[in-house]
Amino acid sequence: MQITRNDNGTYAVKSASGATYEITYAGCGDADPEFVSLWDCSCPAGQHGRDCKHMKTFLANAWRFDEDPCDAISVGADGEVSICETVR
Ligand SMILES: [Zn+2]
Repeated sequence: MQITRNDNGTYAVKSASGATYEITYAGCGDADPEFVSLWDCSCPAGQHGRDCKHMKTFLANAWRFDEDPCDAISVGADGEVSICETVR
């Protein structure tokens, strides 16, 4: 999956199937990264309040955006993360 930060502060997650879903900040609260309800995903599972792989992938890698918000991140099927070229 590839994660891209949008200019409006949301994140686009491109799944392996080619669909792109939007991760949106849903409110402040405990900074615990396991507290997934702070973010909403636009995929069908996310819209029904369930954890989804897009959310889990995003949460596992969101800290990287604090270092360079212009970078896109690729996550392999094995969970390995690599930072791609700058996406604008
Ligand atoms: Zn999702």
